[in-house]
Amino acid sequence: MSIRGRAARRAVLAVGALSRRLGLGSGSTVGGRVGILIDPGLLGHLSAGRLVALVSGTNGKTTTTRLLAEALGGPSAVATSTAGANMPAGLVSALAASPPGAPSVLEVDEGYLAQVADAVAARVVVLLNLSRDQLDRVGEVRMVASRWRALLARTAATVVANCDDPLVTWAAEPAADVVWVAAGGRWSDDARQCPACGGRVAFDHARPTPSFRASGGHEGASGDWSCTCGLRRPEPAAAVEDGRLVVDGRALPLTLALPGRFNQGNAAMAAVAAGALGIELDRALAAMSGVVEVAGRYSEALDGEVRARLLLAKNPAGWSELIELLSAGSGPVVLGINAREADGRDPSWLWDVPFERLTHRLAVASGDRRLDLAVRLRHAGVTHLVVADQVAALHAPGAPQLDYVGNYTAFQELRRLLARRASAGGGPGSAAGRGGLAGDGGPGPRHLAEQAAPPPAPARRAGARRGSRQADLSIVVVHPDLLGTYGDSGNGRVLANRAAWRGIAVELVLAPSDEPLPASGDLYCLGGGEDGPQSRSATLLADSPLPEAVGRGAVVLAVCAGFQIIGSAFPGPGETPQPGLGLVDAETVRGPGRRAVGEALVRPGPEAESLGVTEMLTGFENHAGVTRLGPGVAPLGQVVRGVGNDPGGDRRSPAAARVDGCVAGHVVGTYLHGPVLARNPALADALLALATGAALRPLADEEEAALRDERLIGVAPPRRTGRRRALRVG
Ligand code: GLN
Repeated sequence: MSIRGRAARRAVLAVGALSRRLGLGSGSTVGGRVGILIDPGLLGHLSAGRLVALVSGTNGKTTTTRLLAEALGGPSAVATSTAGANMPAGLVSALAASPPGAPSVLEVDEGYLAQVADAVAARVVVLLNLSRDQLDRVGEVRMVASRWRALLARTAATVVANCDDPLVTWAAEPAADVVWVAAGGRWSDDARQCPACGGRVAFDHARPTPSFRASGGHEGASGDWSCTCGLRRPEPAAAVEDGRLVVDGRALPLTLALPGRFNQGNAAMAAVAAGALGIELDRALAAMSGVVEVAGRYSEALDGEVRARLLLAKNPAGWSELIELLSAGSGPVVLGINAREADGRDPSWLWDVPFERLTHRLAVASGDRRLDLAVRLRHAGVTHLVVADQVAALHAPGAPQLDYVGNYTAFQELRRLLARRASAGGGPGSAAGRGGLAGDGGPGPRHLAEQAAPPPAPARRAGARRGSRQADLSIVVVHPDLLGTYGDSGNGRVLANRAAWRGIAVELVLAPSDEPLPASGDLYCLGGGEDGPQSRSATLLADSPLPEAVGRGAVVLAVCAGFQIIGSAFPGPGETPQPGLGLVDAETVRGPGRRAVGEALVRPGPEAESLGVTEMLTGFENHAGVTRLGPGVAPLGQVVRGVGNDPGGDRRSPAAARVDGCVAGHVVGTYLHGPVLARNPALADALLALATGAALRPLADEEEAALRDERLIGVAPPRRTGRRRALRVG
């Protein structure tokens, strides 16, 4: 290595050590950053001459990396990542700290795979899966897949790819040397649209569509899939079948200490990768079977009298695997949800998690975003407590044994808190009795009250037979498989529940794009979507009963991509304008600036007020499009924070010009997703009143009120005095 490279390596180690000594964390990121500043080619220099395996994918990276490291002789014999430090700076630290020449197993963030693979000349690249995650910062999953595809077309590495995932398959297809592994994966919702042609991927097992997310589907196993364009599941060289790895005519038992079918998939991928690096499969599997926890995941923590199994899930795909484990269990389950930088700031994905399958368990909502979670649990029919402090949350149910599931930073934080308590002697007899922990200022009485959730309204898929009872109100979620990026089917669920809770006979119909759209809906919900799926949905809808239904008075809530679709035109494939449905006079073009991403507040305008929406609207937006309303179309309201339709295409456009959405008779559009109706029950009720023509009695919306208070205060512009108060009263 050059003098500069050696100096950079020493700097990585010294800065990392200093950071640890000052108690600032593991030091892996800051040390690596300094090293890369000194020598921009450091990643390549440190990995030169080593056997390098990279592991990437949305879920299972950390576990698979650990299993593969184990197969190669254990974490002390290889250079391997500290959990989560999976961007170049963290990788540099992992390499700098290991003996020169030791083989390396590196976990790589999906977005950085190309950059890292180019720098390190990997021998093996393991590709697990791709699904939506951290939407506010990672971007559309199809864009990640196409970056992978470009990289893999030029790589000399052996690619070990999960052929049960269409996005992974499409990305890995051009690689010269691929070993396909049928590793499974229950989550197909993000791959319904063919990455090659934009058509619809058919899965041969009757796997539930995204429409069943909220009603707790996901019964299917992995299976064959294909598209009419010719993209199809390749013949696997190895497959997970009934707890065994079937390869070369042998069936090797996947005996793991780690729970869950998904970990068998991770182990299969790691074993095949180890095989590609020259390790015998039996030996690799035997080494992996001894792994009992991975960076705290799956471990048991004892705090006072409470024994908690610690699990981590950070997106709908991860949850859909874990929910299997959880629904088979009993006793309380504590859920810690944050929305910090590393988690993604937008927790709307909570509406894609089938919490409905946990109605037999008492839940405790905790973490920074416990109030979003509480509203979600209410709609799922899960009885719950709300406790701010995560340690107090473990003790709140008063049960000796429970499961804890946290998303990324919530999980890390709980582990840190537990470790600190253990070293401070916070064992049995500590202050953490039921309700006795002050936590962050003390959970108020409301936060400890058990909220018995009313039962949720049942949902059915379009095409499925109706129940015997005829509904008075039919709510249709339009194309949840294409327009469901932001938990948008939650809007349909909120509407159906709020109707059912008032005794209205309501049906919730989930209408995926391969079924005819019901013509007799009273209220249609369109959600947000990636550019490709949005375009396809618009094409299908132009030929559907939707325009006619609107003509006869059906109510429409159109969010984000849906809002663009109901206008006259929006940017279609290749940025050429594609006609919308023309239900409102509004045109969308690509904005000149950055994508509008973040929390938004909208003060209802006169049209919205006349529908009964008088309180400030809160939501999250994430779009590149800029929408101009025609002269006769009223906006939904004035943007107080955020971007909205942004006719100036610029956050700095004059305040008066910044409006969001539209209200055109019984058609309401908005850029607020989130899902917007969970946070704004007044808007939900206004739509229900329009659809039923009746006045609705108020509901006990305590949890929604708490969430709204938090959102309105938390995101209001801080410097303008008097604003908070004004916001609270709307
Ligand atoms: N693809 C559209 C845009 O970026 C809509 C995005 C969305 O629905 N979030 O403008």
